[in-house]
Amino acid sequence: MSYQAPLKDMRFVINELAGLQEVAKLPGYQDATPDTVDAILEQASKFASEVLDPINHIGDQEGSIWSDGEVRTPKGFKAAYQQYVEGGWGALPFDAAVGGQGLPKLVATAVEEMLTSSNMSFSLCPLLTQGAIHALELCGSDALKDTYLAKMIQGSWTGTMNLTEPQAGSDLALVRTRAVPHGDHYKISGQKIFITYGEHDLSENIVHLVLARTPQAPEGVKGISLFLVPKFIPNKDGTPGKRNSARCASIEHKLGIHASPTAVMVFEDAVGYLVGEENKGLSYMFIMMNAARFSVGLEGVSISERAFQRALAYAKERLQGRDLVEGAKTVPIIKHPDVRRMLMLMKSQTEAMRALAYVVAAAMDFAHKTRNKAHQAFVDLMIPVVKGWCTETGIEVASLGVQVHGGMGFVEETGAAQYLRDARITTIYEGTTGIQAMDLVGRKIAREGGATARAWLAELKKLDAKLAAHPEIRKALADGVKAVEECVDFIVGAKDPRVQFAGAVPFLKLMGIVAGGWQMARAALAAEKKVSEDKAFYEAKIATTRFYADHVLVQAPALRNTVVNGAAGVMALSEDQFLAA
Ligand SMILES: Cc1cc2nc3c(=O)[nH]c(=O)nc-3n(C[C@H](O)[C@H](O)[C@H](O)COP(=O)(O)OP(=O)(O)OC[C@H]3O[C@@H](n4cnc5c(N)ncnc54)[C@H](O)[C@@H]3O)c2cc1C
Repeated sequence: MSYQAPLKDMRFVINELAGLQEVAKLPGYQDATPDTVDAILEQASKFASEVLDPINHIGDQEGSIWSDGEVRTPKGFKAAYQQYVEGGWGALPFDAAVGGQGLPKLVATAVEEMLTSSNMSFSLCPLLTQGAIHALELCGSDALKDTYLAKMIQGSWTGTMNLTEPQAGSDLALVRTRAVPHGDHYKISGQKIFITYGEHDLSENIVHLVLARTPQAPEGVKGISLFLVPKFIPNKDGTPGKRNSARCASIEHKLGIHASPTAVMVFEDAVGYLVGEENKGLSYMFIMMNAARFSVGLEGVSISERAFQRALAYAKERLQGRDLVEGAKTVPIIKHPDVRRMLMLMKSQTEAMRALAYVVAAAMDFAHKTRNKAHQAFVDLMIPVVKGWCTETGIEVASLGVQVHGGMGFVEETGAAQYLRDARITTIYEGTTGIQAMDLVGRKIAREGGATARAWLAELKKLDAKLAAHPEIRKALADGVKAVEECVDFIVGAKDPRVQFAGAVPFLKLMGIVAGGWQMARAALAAEKKVSEDKAFYEAKIATTRFYADHVLVQAPALRNTVVNGAAGVMALSEDQFLAA
């Protein structure tokens, strides 16, 4: 069952919910006309279905292989990457001045969803490269930009993000890698682990962005600097030159994303160049991390879509059980109410997540081009929600995909199991869900007294009267808004951080399902006006919103109670009481 990009829903979300028309009026985005965007989506869909999807399963089975410091990607990956470069896909969201195509993040997001749905392992290489480009664009010196940016945007050189060390995972204050000044550069020494595409055979050079400490740097996060460490040190003419002493010691054997090499990197007096100023590395890295966090959130949407499509195809084919009304006849399992419930959970949450992610992408475009603080504040509030909620839900949806397949889901043959295994990393890397939730509660709500969250809730309240014709959706959304509002008050008022953080993940989930409900309600209202244009699609959108309200949004009040009352239970046991031996 090959991947089919959900172009109809993507176009609907891009135009009706995320407002492409307004985005295209922003300076520099004049090329994002409906025709151009349509053509890009069609081409990306073809590339995803015809090039990336066919090598997804083989990538999982074969995996990337390490030998003597080199990594060989699975069959077909090199050729596919070549096509990716030739298609100019990596250049999509970057300014024309630096060799990009100057298209909005909104459009690039839809393309990214397709690439990730069809082959998540492959998509990680562009994902990290794009994060590295952003950091260099904003913080790198002109000399670094001149040498590296064009090649990375074109895709002939790829980028990595080297943060994690054995003793420094969520807590980057513990980073130990050293950077000693040496003439016009630094000598970088240390070990990094879990580096995605830290070594591979897809591109002619790899540009590592590495967090390290200079000799006099203060302890903690205030003493971290960012360095660019190329695999091959560029010659004066820009071609890859001498091999740098940054080597891949091994790659990990892991639960999923087998084709994506996860490298242990060893730096031994490697030549590195300072990016920006000393000791400001973490704030630069946050530039990469915010872009990457959004993209990982989108992985949740992408894997959900793929898992849903496969489950739907299976449910239409698999004959089992009798029709509840007509009796004797054996029917495809899609006729059974419980299978339909699972498929609707998959479909409705995928659509809600897609809508939220694309709306946030459009807000990123507004924030980038207008420097409007309100847009940026909304983006900052929503990044941990997109990352945390979409990935946690992505795992649930992929797991439902296995369930729809029954036993065939648990064996590897159908591919359903791969989606669940691949999805499992998304709640861990780029900051675990726990870390996202603490960011949301601490930095994005408590620190500013809940101002952005309340401004956002005021937008949601404006929908209430418009939903009069849909009383169930209206009530579920109103209850959701009230639940978030009460939690915001609680978080802002809480004196003890343990109480604030004990309910952080349930609060993140609440924010996600309410934000998703907001978008689905907007979708239903937009669909209502267009039913005559495409009855099947728009009626389905309204019915899917109703399902989402009854099965997902309805959880909001219970989550509110967990956030407000749950801390007592979380903190009650002493560490010895956890296991009564
Ligand atoms: C396949 C893969 C690819 C990766 N790619 C990259 C990459 O390209 N570059 C890179 O630098 N890193 C990468 N990573 C590393 C990844 O970002 C880390 O694994 C992640 O940040 C979590 O760190 P940790 O594994 O050390 O877990 P820990 O930090 O040890 O966390 C363990 C548990 O404790 C919780 N926890 C930790 N601290 C707190 C706290 N203060 N409050 C509440 N809970 C807490 C966490 O939520 C988690 O549940 C990758 C990892 C994997 C597995």
